[in-house]
Amino acid sequence: MSTDKSTATPESLNFIEEIVEADLASGKHRHILTRFPPEPNGYLHIGHAKSICLNFGLARKYGGKTNLRFDDTNPVTEETEYVDSILDDVRWLGFEPANIFYASDYFDQLYAWAIQLIRDGKAYVDFSSPATIADMKGTPTEPGTDSPFRNTPPEENLDLFEKMKIGAFPDGHCVLRARIDMASPNMHMRDPILYRIKHAHHHRTGDKWNIYPMYDWAHGQSDCIEGITHSICTLEFIPHRELYNWLIEQLGIPAPVPHQYEFARLNLTYTVMSKRKLLQLVREKHVRGWDDPRMPTISAYRRKGYTPESIRNFAQRIGVAKRENLIELSLLEFFIREDLNKKAQRRFAVLHPLKVVITNYPEDQVEWLETENNPEDEHAGKRQLAFSRELYIEQDDFMENPPPKYFRLSPGSMVRLKSAFIIKCDSVVKDDSGNITALHCTYFPESRSGQDTSGLKTQGVIHWLSASNAKQAEVRLYDRLFRVEDPAAEEDFKQSINPDSLHVVEQAMVEPALAAVRTGETFQFTRLGYFCVDPDSTPDRIVFNRTVTLKDTWAKEKTKSV
Ligand code: ATP
Ligand code: MG
Repeated sequence: MSTDKSTATPESLNFIEEIVEADLASGKHRHILTRFPPEPNGYLHIGHAKSICLNFGLARKYGGKTNLRFDDTNPVTEETEYVDSILDDVRWLGFEPANIFYASDYFDQLYAWAIQLIRDGKAYVDFSSPATIADMKGTPTEPGTDSPFRNTPPEENLDLFEKMKIGAFPDGHCVLRARIDMASPNMHMRDPILYRIKHAHHHRTGDKWNIYPMYDWAHGQSDCIEGITHSICTLEFIPHRELYNWLIEQLGIPAPVPHQYEFARLNLTYTVMSKRKLLQLVREKHVRGWDDPRMPTISAYRRKGYTPESIRNFAQRIGVAKRENLIELSLLEFFIREDLNKKAQRRFAVLHPLKVVITNYPEDQVEWLETENNPEDEHAGKRQLAFSRELYIEQDDFMENPPPKYFRLSPGSMVRLKSAFIIKCDSVVKDDSGNITALHCTYFPESRSGQDTSGLKTQGVIHWLSASNAKQAEVRLYDRLFRVEDPAAEEDFKQSINPDSLHVVEQAMVEPALAAVRTGETFQFTRLGYFCVDPDSTPDRIVFNRTVTLKDTWAKEKTKSV
């Protein structure tokens, strides 16, 4: 797989848009109807977001509609929790389905159509074991062999199929197969299975059914029932298209029938994207849940502080292609930075506090300094920061023995406190073990930001907080969940899990204004990145997730090592 950032320019039509425009121009369709058909067996991931943006985006652009259809044909893996989360995620992304349907709504119609196929001699009940059926399929270069059940007369098949339906046979005892062509070069056409027996409780149909349709049987037929015009799926379904069309033809569905189109699925670096693998991460507790901010699910991105706009813009930018590729995770990060830079208010937070005592500042004095909430947004207003004798700065912003060109604080050096004053470090206070516990500094009253008459020159600007009113908070810093670019290509993807993907700062200090925030609110912590209020927050203790750093430090690391 190649790594590729540019698959389509935003102005040009993608190949599916070209098809849609041609179909509308020729009068084949007056309106388009697309669908997003998730199986409710897990939470949606960012790959699904690409499909949602494509399907709903097409309808929006061409005045059509999009259905949300739960492909709930496998009762064993599906749950209502997943159904609810999927609908939430679609809406959060900014789309409202024209209809919410379930493939299980169509079980009666699918059953009636199966009877039609059996009557027409185009389907039969097969009692061969799964292994025998697989053997009889042949190989891509050798034709398959006919099942001994292939020529059972239709009346007998009708009777057997009825028995399957009413639960007369145990699970796996037999299947219903389409009777197509055991010599077809397309393996999917070699008498594919349409129904299997499962005595399982279904989240919607309960215990009504003992047989459940296979994907190929349910999918195209559901598209027909809904009148879908463009049925868009990922590339691995290309070989299914012939069967999709064959089944529609046998049933005599009147034109215009739905047409299947395939596009490349989204693959992201340092990410696994299959629900099966994501479920493993959750079940085996490599993460805290489906919405753990290290997961690539839509709910995790939401919890981490991503906006719907950033994900839609990302989907638009990667476009729709016909060949598989691997998109850089940093491209997704670019879009959230770009969006939050405009929207997020700036706040000061100190993750690893080091106390600074301004020795020439009166003990009980507090003064209020004004600073902009967001220089990128003129409507964002200003806020007041307390300045007092005791402050906090980042431990990282001080070095006792600095290398050349270190522009932050060190003994004898000066630095500007952002939106405040210039300070000079006079001495370092240490405990008995030699650990630095505080800095003693002096400040220059005439160096106040915006009114600086001091004539002093400094190169470094650092953020800070007044110890008098700073509040404690927990800050969770995330790194990528996998150490390798393409974890799904590894023999065991879990071997490449990054052991340092979560770093919890238990005792960060933040501006007092950040004590009264709502879950989901995002801020830029000056110099540190974008942060979002986590639902784990309590009134006494706010928890922040780092959404993304300010700069792409990882890309820088990579160029350094080249
Ligand atoms: P997974 O393999 O992750 O379980 P899936 O394809 O089985 O995914 P579905 O719930 O069947 O998941 O998918 C719903 C829709 O989302 C389908 O149309 C599918 O093609 C699309 N989709 C799934 N994964 C991706 C992806 N990585 N990129 C783009 N579209 C995707
Ligand atoms: Mg699937």
